[in-house]
Amino acid sequence: MASEDNSANLPRGADWPSRLRGAWLALLGRLGADPATGQVSPTSGRGAAHPQALLIESLISGLPGAAIVLDRDGRVIAFNAAASGIAPSLRRGEPALITLRMPELVDAIRRATASRTPQRVEFFERVPLDRWFEAFVTPVRLANTGEANANILLMTFNDLTPLRRVEEMRADFIANASHELRTPLAALLGFIETLQGPAKNDVAAREKFLAIMQGQATRMARLIDDLLSLSRIELNAHLQPNTPLDLAPVVKQVADGLQTLARDRDVTIKVAAPPDELIVLGERDELVRALENLVENALKYGAAGKRVDITLARNQTRGGAPEARLAVRDYGPGIAPEHLPRLTERFYRVDVADSRAQGGTGLGLALVKHVLNRHGGRLSIESTPGEGATFIMHLPLRTGDSAPIQELT
Ligand code: ADP
Repeated sequence: MASEDNSANLPRGADWPSRLRGAWLALLGRLGADPATGQVSPTSGRGAAHPQALLIESLISGLPGAAIVLDRDGRVIAFNAAASGIAPSLRRGEPALITLRMPELVDAIRRATASRTPQRVEFFERVPLDRWFEAFVTPVRLANTGEANANILLMTFNDLTPLRRVEEMRADFIANASHELRTPLAALLGFIETLQGPAKNDVAAREKFLAIMQGQATRMARLIDDLLSLSRIELNAHLQPNTPLDLAPVVKQVADGLQTLARDRDVTIKVAAPPDELIVLGERDELVRALENLVENALKYGAAGKRVDITLARNQTRGGAPEARLAVRDYGPGIAPEHLPRLTERFYRVDVADSRAQGGTGLGLALVKHVLNRHGGRLSIESTPGEGATFIMHLPLRTGDSAPIQELT
C-alpha cells in the first residue's frame, strides 16, 4: 500500500496512469484523493467532507441533467452545475432539507432514506419562472467503504417544462380547432331545422338558406383542408426538399390563378421578377400554396388599396448567403405593430369577424411559416398602419446557381 500512498501525492497534470490510479484511490475511499490527479486534497482533513466527494462530483458533473448527492444524514456531498440552476443556494456539507424547499422532494428524500427504495416525484416551481420537474431519489450503497459513509442518496432531475408546454399547446390547438368547426356546424344544423320546420314550404327562404349552408360547409371543408396540410408539412418538417425549382413560374401560376378574385375585389395585381432564374430547392405545391395564401390575404384584407405588388428579387441574408426575396405588398389598412409577432400563430386573427366574413380559417400564415421553415427559409412582415402591409418569403437559393436568362411572360 506504500506505493499507492506515493502516487496519491503526484502533482496536478500527472500522466494518465497516475490519474487513473488517483481515481481508484478516491473510489476506494482514500480520504480526499483527487480522482483527476491522485493528489490528496487539502480539504481532506475537514470532518464534514465525504471521502468520495471528489469522485462523486466528477461523476455527476458528466450528467446532462441536474444531480445532487446526499450523505446518510441528508447533507449535500456533491452537486453539478445544472443542480445550481434548480437550487441556487445549494452548499456542500449543508443539510439538503434546508436548501431544497420543495415539500414533495423533501418527502421523497425522507421516504427513500427510510425505505432504502427509489422514489419518483413531480413538482412545480413558480419562481423565477413556471417550471415542472420530475426527480428520482435513489439510495445507493457504495462498495468497499466504511459503514458510516456507505449509504448515499443520488437525486437526478428532469425538466418537464418543454413537454408540458407542448401538451398545453396541443390541448389549446384541439380546443381551437373544435371551436372553429363547431361554429359553422351549429349554423348548418340551425338552417336544417328551419328548413324542416317553419320554412318547409318557403321556396325563397330555402334558396337563401341553402346558399348560406353551402358557404358554411365550404368553410368547414377549407378548415379541414388547412389542418391536414399543416400536419402534413409538420410531419415532413425535418425533410428539407431537394428538387431544384425556378421561382418565377411559381409566381406566375399564383398571380394568374388569383386574377378572378382580384377582379371581384377590384384590385390590380402587378408582378415584377428578374430576367434570370432564381433556383431554390423546394416542393412546388407547398410554395404555390404559401404564396397563394399571402396574395389571397392581400386581396382580402388589403382590397381597399386597389393594388397588390408581387416582387421576386435576388437578395442576401445578413450572413451574406444568396436568397430569393418574394414580397407581397398591399396598400390596404395595414396591421398594428402589436399584432405582428402573433400573426403566424394558429387561429390568431386581428379581427375574427372580418376573417370569418372573408372565409378565413386563421391558419394561412401558420401554414406559410411552416412551409418556409421546411425550406430553410423564413417569413418577415412589415407594416405601417394606414399604409398597407408587406409579407416577405425569404428562401435560400441553390448555391452554385448559374443564371441563364429567362423571360417571365
Ligand atoms: P385568415 O384565414 O384569417 O386569413 P391568416 O393566418 O392568413 O388567417 O391571417 C391571420 C390574420 O392576419 C388575418 O385574420 C388578418 O387579421 C391578418 N392579415 C393577414 N394578412 C393581412 C394583410 N395583408 N393585411 C391586413 N391584415 C392581414
